[in-house]
Amino acid sequence: MYWNKEAETIDAVSLSEQQAARLKKTVESLYSNIQFYKKQMDLAGVKPADIKTVSDIRKLPFTTREDLRENFPDGLLAIPKKDIVRLHTSSGTTGKPKAIFFSKHDIDAASDLMARSLYMTGLRNTDIFQNMMTYGLFTGALMMHYGAEKIGCMVIPAGPGNTARQISLMQDFETTAIHITPSYGLYLASVLQKQGLDPATDLSLKKAYVGAEPYTEETRKKIESLLKVDAYNCYGLSEMNGPGVAFECERKNGLHLWEDNFLMEILDPVTGEPIPDGEEGELVLTTLNREAMPILRYRTKDITKILPDKCPCGRTHRRIHRIIGRADDMFIVKGVNIYPQQIERVLMSVKGVAENYQINLENLDKMTVKVEIDKNMFDGKVEHIVTLRNEITERLKNEILVKPVVELLEPGTLPVSEGKAVRVIDTRTM
Ligand code: ADP
Ligand code: ZN
Repeated sequence: MYWNKEAETIDAVSLSEQQAARLKKTVESLYSNIQFYKKQMDLAGVKPADIKTVSDIRKLPFTTREDLRENFPDGLLAIPKKDIVRLHTSSGTTGKPKAIFFSKHDIDAASDLMARSLYMTGLRNTDIFQNMMTYGLFTGALMMHYGAEKIGCMVIPAGPGNTARQISLMQDFETTAIHITPSYGLYLASVLQKQGLDPATDLSLKKAYVGAEPYTEETRKKIESLLKVDAYNCYGLSEMNGPGVAFECERKNGLHLWEDNFLMEILDPVTGEPIPDGEEGELVLTTLNREAMPILRYRTKDITKILPDKCPCGRTHRRIHRIIGRADDMFIVKGVNIYPQQIERVLMSVKGVAENYQINLENLDKMTVKVEIDKNMFDGKVEHIVTLRNEITERLKNEILVKPVVELLEPGTLPVSEGKAVRVIDTRTM
């Protein structure tokens, strides 16, 4: 069942024609309205007339996070200010916020993509959608809100945190779907457990939309089994409208990236050269349907790969693998490159591990993985704890090739963040 069958099942030739036309229009607008892009394109020796097909994208300059900051607040606007209807900023996980502007057309297009994404997973107007993301400058909550409303769901704009209230809202209004970060999802499950509530009988939940930060397949499974839901991965970034950039369909086998709205490239993060389908690289995105603030070849720093097979759902937009990591999140210990997701994958697959963990890096590359374990593991039997710690240490060493110190903690010891989780604390000074 499609929200927009024609758009979702478009054949490759028509898609490529549509992309080329939209790219051309975008480049013409950028060149004549934005000083920064005119200068960059002149430097690269490329004119709007040189852009005829999708592959001409390679002639165009990149846009980086730093470019957005240097042009802060409104240097990258392509339309008069009077036609702007909304400002968002990125949540600023990695430095100062960036300002993103939307026209009425842009908000409509973004809401429509959101509705398309949610509908694809089976969300309908009979659903009660409790949105546990931060409302405000961040795109995550508002864009999802608009999409769910567009489908006709009853939306509960709960915002994050205040878990006791979230639970009463879910009970009182029989919430069927939630939008949540993976870290808060796991925390919510632990509070339900503590209150002796079983989601299968005490709640009406069916679906969870989980995104905004990288997480592993093991974490998805854990959320699904603890909350008794189908959890769908949703990916996006403020620079590209917010959460409806790529989304899982009911097959949950990778995320369809909406190629009629975004031109996708997977590039070598260092050289900027294209990477063959199926191999990991940096996702680079160009907006194809945005008026106020079109962006060319944005370096997301998110690492993923294209899943080349066709999806049995019939949608033709190519799928990406769940984000493997952010180029920025990677840290180096004893010369080895490590992503926090590698550690999470191991932890979440070990029986006895609870929801929260933290990685601490200290001088001399001392790496400590602090992890909360299930309450019933603290049953007084020291040997149980020692066995578990040894198992985790050994499995981590196999995965990351470095042997960390593993500390097991009681549930509730580590800080819980309402927004994006902080997983790595690096206090190394040398
Ligand atoms: P910030 O860069 O300040 O965090 P955003 O709030 O726009 O800005 O967050 C976008 C980033 O969040 C993405 O670039 C990506 O790194 C991460 N992200 C969003 N959704 C997902 C997801 N489903 N899986 C992995 N990472 C995600
Ligand atoms: Zn599909």
